[in-house]
Amino acid sequence: MSLTLYSTLSRRKEPFTPIDPSNVRVYVCGPTVYDYAHIGNARPVIVFDVLFRLLRHLYGSDHVTYVRNITDVDDKINARAASEHPDLPLNEAIRRVTGATERQFHEDIAALGVLPPTVEPRATEHIEEMKRLIEALIARGHAYVAEGHVLFDVSSMADYGRLSNRSLEEMEAGARVEVAPYKKGPMDFVLWKPSKPGEPAWTSPAGIDTPGRPGWHIECSAMAEKHLGTTFDIHGGGIDLVFPHHENEIAQSRCAHDLPVMANVWMHNGFLQVEGEKMSKSLGNFITIHELLATKKFGANQWHGRVIRLAMLGTHYRQPIDWTAERLLQARATLSDFADLLAGVAPAEKPHADVVAALSDDLNTPSALSIIHGLAKSAKRNPEAAAELATTLAFMGLYGGETRDELNVGVEIATVDTEKVDALVAARLAARKAKDFKESDRLRDELAALGVALKDAKDPKTGEITTTWEIAR
Ligand code: AMP
Ligand code: ZN
Repeated sequence: MSLTLYSTLSRRKEPFTPIDPSNVRVYVCGPTVYDYAHIGNARPVIVFDVLFRLLRHLYGSDHVTYVRNITDVDDKINARAASEHPDLPLNEAIRRVTGATERQFHEDIAALGVLPPTVEPRATEHIEEMKRLIEALIARGHAYVAEGHVLFDVSSMADYGRLSNRSLEEMEAGARVEVAPYKKGPMDFVLWKPSKPGEPAWTSPAGIDTPGRPGWHIECSAMAEKHLGTTFDIHGGGIDLVFPHHENEIAQSRCAHDLPVMANVWMHNGFLQVEGEKMSKSLGNFITIHELLATKKFGANQWHGRVIRLAMLGTHYRQPIDWTAERLLQARATLSDFADLLAGVAPAEKPHADVVAALSDDLNTPSALSIIHGLAKSAKRNPEAAAELATTLAFMGLYGGETRDELNVGVEIATVDTEKVDALVAARLAARKAKDFKESDRLRDELAALGVALKDAKDPKTGEITTTWEIAR
């Protein structure tokens, strides 16, 4: 077994050695729950689900702890709650927004074949742990209190900026943020901030009398430590989180305990854009997972969750991905063909070794999929290959017994007037016999426009041509 993973920290692929092979520990930043998750948010969820499945395969399903948090305290949540439920007290409105969004998120990603993580901690349930971390940072001289805030003093950490590969001087020179008067240095970031009346608030860390709430970065440091310990194996998220979020998580977690490392490997997925453009509400190309699954908004169709998953895994996770209807169409055709091959097939014992090997090379899903295509070719004749195909696809979360029809959810099947079609087919055959090919071609096109596909067969003995037809998909 040899697994290699690219780490943003070392900027190269490294052989992976778990700290404790009986408990491989992974943390991935989860969603901020105030709105439907978009298709970009689905990328880390799917990518790190593949990693989770691979680690379970390599180390045993009881030997991996995968933590993916829910961020349920955030200013965007507060704003959404206030505008959506203006009549309710803010805290009650927040509970409604976060509860409904979390349910929707779970429903959406379950449809994408994503396994539940081992632990799914909520930020609001870890406030005490955050406060303890903040107090430790103050006690060690890495943080200071100013006007009801606690700030992390980045100048107190010798190698701040290592993950994003920038020195503090460079960052300060490029900083355009307006510097709050209570900050000692422009790059110092908030660990805790005061809450206005009505806003979510907790008793502040020692040294501050007024109530407040945590900053974003401290949440993940506290939840990771609670569930995985102070140093663990892998930390993941989208590439946009490298700076400042992950840089600051590292600063907090290491400085609170004077440790050289927070996580050994830092993995980041590339960004997703839609039809060649950055996804944004104003461009009208903003697309949620829910819309893809349940409406005909994108590519004028509805898409099965497994199809979305395959479309996502067609590109290596570190590359940018361009989300197009064409990509989904191809994924749907592929999975539909697989479904035909797999009807009634009993699974094999384990997934194909070459696919496991491809995934073990920094999650090389394009290579894994090309091996799967080869397997599907053999599966046409060989029942053992079919069994292995079923198990390998299920291992990657790409198969759960779906039929072609289920995968083609939302595809309109043309309904045709059979008598009319029969008459046109007969007329075309007659035209062919009379060698009026212009007319027979015209009739074939007319039939195609009705959604009808023709199949001609020639009797080898008599040479007579018969035509059958079916509704094209
Ligand atoms: P957020 O809720 O914005 O914090 O994002 C949740 C996760 O989705 C993070 O890991 C982000 O890095 C990731 N993410 C957000 N937008 C995209 C995108 N367009 N492509 C890929 N990943 C994204
Ligand atoms: Zn995080």
